[in-house]
Amino acid sequence: MSGSRIPLIAGNWKMNLDHLQATHLVQKLDWVLRDASHAYDEVEVAVFPPFTHLRSVETLIQADQLEIMLGAQDLSQHASGAHTGDISGPMLAKLGCEYVIIGHSERREQHQETDALVNLKVKAALAANLAPVICVGESLATREAGEHIAFVTRQVDEALEGIEASRLGRAVIAYEPVWAIGTGAVASAEDAQEVCAEIRQRVAHTHGQELADGMRILYGGSVKPASIAELMDKEDVDGALVGGASLTAEEFAQIIRFRS
Ligand code: PGA
Repeated sequence: MSGSRIPLIAGNWKMNLDHLQATHLVQKLDWVLRDASHAYDEVEVAVFPPFTHLRSVETLIQADQLEIMLGAQDLSQHASGAHTGDISGPMLAKLGCEYVIIGHSERREQHQETDALVNLKVKAALAANLAPVICVGESLATREAGEHIAFVTRQVDEALEGIEASRLGRAVIAYEPVWAIGTGAVASAEDAQEVCAEIRQRVAHTHGQELADGMRILYGGSVKPASIAELMDKEDVDGALVGGASLTAEEFAQIIRFRS
């Protein structure tokens, strides 16, 4: 983490919790964080509930003026129209979403999302004034073959293809090695730093140093309270995308308070 970038700790709830549990979790998270002095200082916190819970969580955030940002886990590449079952960027923006996750490895695997589709979704998010959280990451086989840097930087290239740097100021990239997601096998801080630094260099090469210097690059994959401090110590790791450990207020709060 470099002093010039505000860390982002993001909770990806995936397909978990009902809408009542979702609002309870956010209330409890805020309560636990406020209990600790300076809990929110210089850390941005965002939660990514399932679509069906966004309205309830947004209402709670508004009513209690919580310092928690809202994001969605996916969006359609289309803005509106005959796309049964899909949710568009403008719909999410209207619900108070600031962020949207794009290209999570579970979407790539389970819904055959390609890099070309990820690129269209990034463009759709930007058109709706949402900040994309673009997920990239290699499989175990790719890492074992020593091709992880080439693989991940190509994913970054394709996600950002044809988009001007001036439009990407709020974009976030999350490096999530597939072998570390939900497995308990967190990448070492050195491995996370290596890839995050390569991603930043790549963005500098394709979109300019200024964008790369300001862009937040997160690590994701089995992040827990015990592993966050070491990860955040690394120069190019600007936060975390947290799955399992974001589902309990205490654990997620401990990750948010990585400095203490
Ligand atoms: P995990 O998930 O923290 O449960 O490994 C991370 C993610 O998929 O974003």
